[in-house]
Amino acid sequence: MNLAPSSVAVVLGTRPELVKLAPLLHELGPAARLVHTGQHSDETLSGRFVDELRLPAPELLHGIGGRPRGTQIGRAVEQLDDLFAADRPAAVVVQGDTNATLAGALAANARSIPLLHVEAGLRSHDRAMPEEHNRLVVDQLADLLCAATPENRAALRAEGHAEERISLTGNTVVEVVRRSLPSAADRAALLDGYGLRPDAYVLATVHRPENTDDPDTLRELLSSLRSIAAGGTPVLLPLHPRTQAAVERFGLSRMLTGLLVVPPVGYGEFLALARHAALLVSDSGGVQEECTVLGRPLLVVRRSTERPESVDAGFAALAAPGAQLTAAARAWLADRQARLERLAGIPSPYGDGLASARIVRLLEGLAERPVHHDLQRVV
Ligand code: UDP
Repeated sequence: MNLAPSSVAVVLGTRPELVKLAPLLHELGPAARLVHTGQHSDETLSGRFVDELRLPAPELLHGIGGRPRGTQIGRAVEQLDDLFAADRPAAVVVQGDTNATLAGALAANARSIPLLHVEAGLRSHDRAMPEEHNRLVVDQLADLLCAATPENRAALRAEGHAEERISLTGNTVVEVVRRSLPSAADRAALLDGYGLRPDAYVLATVHRPENTDDPDTLRELLSSLRSIAAGGTPVLLPLHPRTQAAVERFGLSRMLTGLLVVPPVGYGEFLALARHAALLVSDSGGVQEECTVLGRPLLVVRRSTERPESVDAGFAALAAPGAQLTAAARAWLADRQARLERLAGIPSPYGDGLASARIVRLLEGLAERPVHHDLQRVV
């Protein structure tokens, strides 16, 4: 590898970025310099993942977690600018669509440091989502756009991004799932610990503002999960801190009775539980990809998805919280054996598990021939 030690700054701030950048950080080895904005500062969403995924000790920014979006972005850009001024990286890598992603991109742009965007070209076309704005801006700024799927590449081409900036790499989620899934024996022991049987429970996660910020929607969602559980299929719900806070704020704690509610679980544990669930119910972006590697069906409780590949391949479907979700879950559970057998034969649309190796090769090329783009004065 021609990359000097600590020459690639990988900027991230949330659980899904830690997960999906782990294989790239491993591949980069000593060339990586990890910077964590602290957007997720809760131990259950952050520190535990640094340890479990064996990531290098991050440089930590401060005063960001739990702040309004503009404050998060502004403070992160300012602190990143100081870090990059003191020790200029050869390249900056960001992933996905978080406030940390946008801040990393703006800070790289402000110092004319070449920028690579992992998971470029995702589009929900829902302009009410801050993530959609983050993606759009980061893709404008990045020198190298790593599209995970042909659909992502097509979206970038349709927006007029120059062909030489776009590479089809696959999604790093494929390799992180393969490497992190516990052994069959460990999975069996874990399920025993929860009193769950394979193919006989639902695993649910909910944390998006569209589900947690409106009391009626959250009540509908929890009521759907309860009616699934009342129908005889246990529902395990690792409760995200934002959802927990919303449940308390809206006085909905009694809506959790009848569900197996636990704090968020570690990555290997989550994959093990997802691997044997009869059905996943989630508004998570990462889970929409992971279900395709694990061969499990997913009902996506969202208005829109930036990952239609999971739907088109037959793994996932959108369902509105309430009657639609309850009916879809009942129908999918009734048909579970045939569905699980069918999904086991469908390859993941997110690539072959070599995305991080391809991304490192792109970074090596970038270090040899820095890209001079014409957007250096955007900030
Ligand atoms: N996840 C986890 N433990 C949990 C719930 C989720 O490790 O209790 C993982 C999940 O496998 C996925 C990631 O967290 O890789 C998704 O994070 P999140 O839903 O917060 O973000 P999104 O993917 O929606 O951006």
